[in-house]
Amino acid sequence: MKKKIDWRLPVIVLLALLLILEVADMYRLTHGGGGQPLPILMYHHFADESKSGTVVTPASFREQMSALREAGYEAVNVSQVIGFVREGTPLPEKPVLITMDDGYGSNLTIAAPILEETGMRATVFVIGINEGEEYYVHSGEPMWQHRFAFEEAAPWVEKGIIDVQSHTFDMHQLESYGYSGRDGVRRIPGESDSEYRSALLADAEAFRRRREGRVATELLALAYPFGYYDLEADEVMKEAGYQLTVTIDERINWLHAGDEGCLRMMGRFNVTDCDSGEELVDRLNQYFSTPVLSKNH
Ligand SMILES: [Zn+2]
Repeated sequence: MKKKIDWRLPVIVLLALLLILEVADMYRLTHGGGGQPLPILMYHHFADESKSGTVVTPASFREQMSALREAGYEAVNVSQVIGFVREGTPLPEKPVLITMDDGYGSNLTIAAPILEETGMRATVFVIGINEGEEYYVHSGEPMWQHRFAFEEAAPWVEKGIIDVQSHTFDMHQLESYGYSGRDGVRRIPGESDSEYRSALLADAEAFRRRREGRVATELLALAYPFGYYDLEADEVMKEAGYQLTVTIDERINWLHAGDEGCLRMMGRFNVTDCDSGEELVDRLNQYFSTPVLSKNH
């Protein structure tokens, strides 16, 4: 008589193994396989009144910064992040990179004093062609909000509270604006590989020249306008000297010393006037599994 094989046990074992692998994979995705989590926050303009969430009031910003500080977060600059990845220079236990896009004067008049008061720092991504201008160069229209000149930022740069990096020279354009014919750094339909590459490199060079000798820190980072990016554009920007690039994709970053790939096309969390300090801390804390004990304990 043939012995009947009972397949139930092997099937259960196999399913259990698959489940373990799946959980491990989920853990790797959310915890970066033991890498250093680096949340990057994104702000824009600050004003006493906020009609839209993207404009943040001094009261909200102060509350958000104080909450992060009390929860053990330490604001870092791009040079520290690069130093960790390239040289293994240690980062604070709970680092956060605070960024502000477009170069609004309010970053200096409203945000910088609050950063100083709360012991934080931020990196501003400036649109080169708008720097220190009162009118848009292409249209001649008066600018929506003052864009600071590099010299205005100098006292804050000196204190280490503000760093100034690139938001491209003149690629903060949409095709629909009718000036550049392209959306951000995207390729114009029909543009050849070499034309496209030259256009990106020329823009990077124009930014570098405008900033040269006017900002005390090294030019290291680029924020893609409107969050438009792809691998090809990022390769060219790497060649142009940008060691760290950021997008507007809402995700955490996992840093691994020795792996420069983790510095490219990084995610950022948009922070609005509606986010309470507590919500912001909760949002970031999920990535830091080890609790940081406060000094009182
Ligand atoms: Zn922008």
